[in-house]
Amino acid sequence: MTYQYDLFVIGAGSGGVRASRVAASKGYKVAVAEGSALGGTCVNIGCVPKKLFVYGSEYGHGFEEAAAYGWQHQGVSFDWSVLRDNKTKEIERLNGIYGNLLNNAGVELIKGYASFVDAHTVEVNGQTYTAERILIAVGAKPFIPEFEGNDLVVSSNEMFYLDSLPSKALVVGGGYIAVEFAGILNGLGVKTALAYRGDQLLRGFDQDVRNFASVEYVKSGIDVRLNTDIASIELLDPQQPEGARLVHFKDGQSEEFGLVLYATGRVPNVDTLGLDKANIITGKNGAVVIDSNFTTSVPSVFALGDVTDNIQLTPVAIKEAMALIDYWFDGKPVNFDYDNIPTAVFSQPAIGTVGLTEQEAQTRGLDFRVYQTDFRPMKHTLSASTSRSLMKLLVNNENDKVIGAHMVGDYAGEIIQGLGVAIKAGATKADFDATVGVHPTSAEEFVTFSETALKKRD
Ligand code: FAD
Repeated sequence: MTYQYDLFVIGAGSGGVRASRVAASKGYKVAVAEGSALGGTCVNIGCVPKKLFVYGSEYGHGFEEAAAYGWQHQGVSFDWSVLRDNKTKEIERLNGIYGNLLNNAGVELIKGYASFVDAHTVEVNGQTYTAERILIAVGAKPFIPEFEGNDLVVSSNEMFYLDSLPSKALVVGGGYIAVEFAGILNGLGVKTALAYRGDQLLRGFDQDVRNFASVEYVKSGIDVRLNTDIASIELLDPQQPEGARLVHFKDGQSEEFGLVLYATGRVPNVDTLGLDKANIITGKNGAVVIDSNFTTSVPSVFALGDVTDNIQLTPVAIKEAMALIDYWFDGKPVNFDYDNIPTAVFSQPAIGTVGLTEQEAQTRGLDFRVYQTDFRPMKHTLSASTSRSLMKLLVNNENDKVIGAHMVGDYAGEIIQGLGVAIKAGATKADFDATVGVHPTSAEEFVTFSETALKKRD
């Protein structure tokens, strides 16, 4: 049987762009369907615009601290439309770059949403396309629970295009997207409350990191409300659909907010894909089920990235795409290593983490020790800021290997990337000790941990 394409990719996001352009450059005839902007979530409504907003919002605290360094900042004001529109211009520039990358690699771009007809055929805008292999790389979308008034909230998607900023906002959720947006809004001068129904933010992170970060968020001005759930939301004035929202909490309290952002998780983007037409099996939340070679229940169909509901990060989707290419072209079975993936939360302060948390090490029954310190970073010593940083290192007692590094503080994302290399390479505590620190930095704490920093564990 001959097909129009060797490979048809559905979704030109982080994973889809990488897979399609590398496959095309290696000789495959490739088409990619994209229903929205090129680059996917990360470029358009995720990592990139979010980080630009974080940069923008950090000036809010920066101006306050600058006074202690001699800077006068009276009359400073912030114009949301400038940040939003400059961000959009930058994203459009990136969309163009992605278009060129695909074009130069010889990938055919088909604009529109694709759905399955059968195991080798998809349909886009009423036209069918056949391919020997089909790759599902459609990502995920925000999940907003069912409740009265859920049409009055926004998701992270809308945050990048708000007409104006409210004076007071409520962010609902406890994951990284929730704490990042709470930090952005707070830094931009919005009175921000962060409500989470659990008893601590950032489930899955190291418990000390969670507790420490939560305290720092409060110090930075965010009104963190734990064990807090929303019952319903209504318009304060039904005549003003864009006006204030009246939020009724489950404890009986009610409060007005100009904006309510729900950052309560993401689910695979599979609703309109017609997976059943090709008998592709899905699991929890609609995630496409794959084997270790990214193959679905149908041998001609593959899936990677957020749609598989594994670790939802851009570099993971990209590395998965490269592993799949090796599988197709070199016949190497994929053995994707999901351990020791460094990651950052761009909250304020930021979090960087790689390897095991103390709780994970404990659950695995490891014999390990923990070095931990928290301190006032030099940058904050001249100002009245009470902001502190936390650093934590887990070491396996059996072989002296560092098995986890965690940080809350400025530049945590930048610092943890380097530690990720060391931990991936199997560095021991002795290797860390033998490394000369860069002085004066916060990062040098990671190579100067002595016995006095040993944490007493139960
Ligand atoms: P995506 O990049 O989501 O791409 C999927 C593409 O498929 C989209 O362009 C979509 O339009 C398209 N599509 C969907 N259905 C169809 C269809 N039927 N036909 C055609 N096209 C279709 N990750 C990090 O590593 N660092 C971060 O700091 C970070 N910050 C984030 C912040 C936010 C607010 C969000 C929402 C996500 C963030 N992420 C971050 C996660 C990151 O964006 C995702 O992990 C990554 O984009 C997943 O890549 P993907 O290829 O699986 O899917």
